[in-house]
Amino acid sequence: MNLPIEKLQQLSTPYYYYDTDLLVATLAEVKSHLTSDFHVHYAVKANANPTILRHICKAGLGCDCVSGGEIEACLRAGFSADKIVYAGVGKADWEINLGLDAGIFCFNCESTEELAIINELAAAKNKVARVALRINPNVGAHTHANITTGLAENKFGIAMEDMEQVIGLCEAASHIEFVGLHFHIGSQILEMDDFVALCHRINELQDRLEARGISVANLNVGGGLGIDYEQPQQHPVPNFRDYFATYRQHLKLRPGQQLHFELGRAIVGQCGALLTRVLYIKNARVKKFCIVDAGMTDLIRPALYGALHQISNLTSDEPQEVYDVVGPICESSDVFATNYALATAHRGDMLALLSAGAYGEIMASQYNCRMLPKGYCTEDL
Ligand SMILES: *Cc1c(COP(=O)(O)O)cnc(C)c1O
Repeated sequence: MNLPIEKLQQLSTPYYYYDTDLLVATLAEVKSHLTSDFHVHYAVKANANPTILRHICKAGLGCDCVSGGEIEACLRAGFSADKIVYAGVGKADWEINLGLDAGIFCFNCESTEELAIINELAAAKNKVARVALRINPNVGAHTHANITTGLAENKFGIAMEDMEQVIGLCEAASHIEFVGLHFHIGSQILEMDDFVALCHRINELQDRLEARGISVANLNVGGGLGIDYEQPQQHPVPNFRDYFATYRQHLKLRPGQQLHFELGRAIVGQCGALLTRVLYIKNARVKKFCIVDAGMTDLIRPALYGALHQISNLTSDEPQEVYDVVGPICESSDVFATNYALATAHRGDMLALLSAGAYGEIMASQYNCRMLPKGYCTEDL
């Protein structure tokens, strides 16, 4: 990503900066691999900055929501309701009603209990809810344990064994239209083999359904494509070529069947950075701490997943020194990096934590009574 240092230095830290030129280039790359039967829904939970949403909307993508608030944000940003899909294990009544009133493309339904409520609420409005069933494919992703979602032990989705029975329930329900199957195996997946395993599983399930004369109009394979956190500046755009080619090669689409994707991190991850200033260089007994004004309240991924964001000192070209880069929050886990080599830092230096466009600003909290970080886009500077 491009970091216009002079402009960035005028803003008060900590804050997020989004290179929307990189976002636009990333979206163009995504679109270059799509055919008319491939549909990408941006997973809004990765980043709901209104300017970012508008760029994604303008590129023609749909969106994938996991809450009523996200549906509202998407409608405000200009997405048409018929491109919105809505997943989540705990949809509240008002959220289901919002989806019904807006006329979203489909509810990705995660249990029979939820299916009954959607049917009831749709009946009360004399509407028919389009429903895709989220099936738990019991496919593991080689990623952090907290971000796998496709194993039988996870809370998400309906067990494969119950698929036919639940499709039967859809067909029996007066105000439900069964429109497809939905899957999502996890996040930050870099091994195409994990997606191949998902394709094989879906092929099996489709064969099972076909044998019973059940046809499926839409398949939704979720998201999860990872980004290069280690070398973000060398690989600013994820490997969409291999990702889409994997599905083209391994997933057996039936004639007319539509394939949906829900990409979050891969679309916005590399276009964002968290900008922070050095408060103190603390020379402690065993270590040298670089204490910055951003903390885990601004970017929780290192504390939550042990994630590493590359850090660049934008205002020093002195030789490197090794630091623990830490925030001001009263938690020992408020550490961005340990034993990290950084151009020699001084109080006031400006650092950028890279690859922070996804699951960064959106996960910020006010713990310690801190202010939420602001987000600026290229066009805001
Ligand atoms: C989080 C999520 C996604 C997006 O995941 P990424 O790893 O950001 O691509 C897609 N679908 C569902 C159902 C999700 O919960």
